[in-house]
Amino acid sequence: MTAIAKLLVLYTGGTIGMQMTTEGLAPGSGFEARLRAQQALEDPAGLPPWVFQELLPPLDSANMSQSHWLQMAALIRAAVDEQRCDAVLVLHGTDTLAYSAAALSFLLLGLPAPVVLTGSMQPAGAPGSDAWSNLFGAMRALHDGLKTGVHLFFDGALMHGARVTKLRSDAFDAFTVLRRRREGEIAGALLAALDYRQPRQAVNLAVLPLFPGIRASHVRALLASGVRGLLLECYGSGTGPSGDADLLAALREAHADGVVLAAISQCPQGHVEFGVYAAGSQLRDAGLISAGGMTREAALGKLFTLLGAGLGQAEARRWLALDLCGEMAER
Ligand code: ASP
Repeated sequence: MTAIAKLLVLYTGGTIGMQMTTEGLAPGSGFEARLRAQQALEDPAGLPPWVFQELLPPLDSANMSQSHWLQMAALIRAAVDEQRCDAVLVLHGTDTLAYSAAALSFLLLGLPAPVVLTGSMQPAGAPGSDAWSNLFGAMRALHDGLKTGVHLFFDGALMHGARVTKLRSDAFDAFTVLRRRREGEIAGALLAALDYRQPRQAVNLAVLPLFPGIRASHVRALLASGVRGLLLECYGSGTGPSGDADLLAALREAHADGVVLAAISQCPQGHVEFGVYAAGSQLRDAGLISAGGMTREAALGKLFTLLGAGLGQAEARRWLALDLCGEMAER
């Protein structure tokens, strides 16, 4: 945890660098010059030297996809391993910031440098905007010394990248770490395939919240689209419509077909414990695996990383249940 000698600022778009168009705010390029001009007005204390890179084209983060996660991970890897950067700051739209923070937490396991993501609720330059305070606050946090891993810096707070959630769409304190139970078993030595230098590929994944009225035909239609991992957002402590034999059969068939079926709680502060209710045990018996107290963002990013690394169903289930970076256990 030493001062940063060379920081990569990776600009991906988002409100922070947006400009007004006839259709509303849209991502703009040329952020490096604006950042340098603003930095000249800032107190230089605690600001590390930096180099700048853009993901092109810059995005409204509503358009982020798995390929962008992989692109960001590759740029970060190259910056650290080849360009000798000792930290990375990612500027990102807030809408899917928590998803990217989670995905990068798993894609970059073992990276020997800290990564911080930030963005803002108001564009840089707008009166009273949170952009510069978030950006320079994140730089200073990095320069002060952070442990390796992925973090989110927002509205003065430093948060764990694999635990955050966007809670508000209209306030500066938009992100939080919800109190979900984190008591998973901590993984020992990491599987070689999960090291940040290993190749990854896109995976057909889906997230489905259970709701009163869900039908087996809904689940079957989703599974027929070829998903290899399905994240089910169950009720409470991991229950679902266990009285629907057809729905349970659809899950059992998918499990037998090699699909990884993972369960989280749709309660903002919930966790899965199948055995509490028979309606949960029956989901487990149909092939669901508990993702404990993971958020949707964390569970999706982890499923993506495990299956994208080429793990088979049994291995993916084993590693999904272990804490890899603090997503399931306090560390
Ligand atoms: N729609 C914007 C984005 O996610 C919102 C923001 O950055 O605050 O890119």
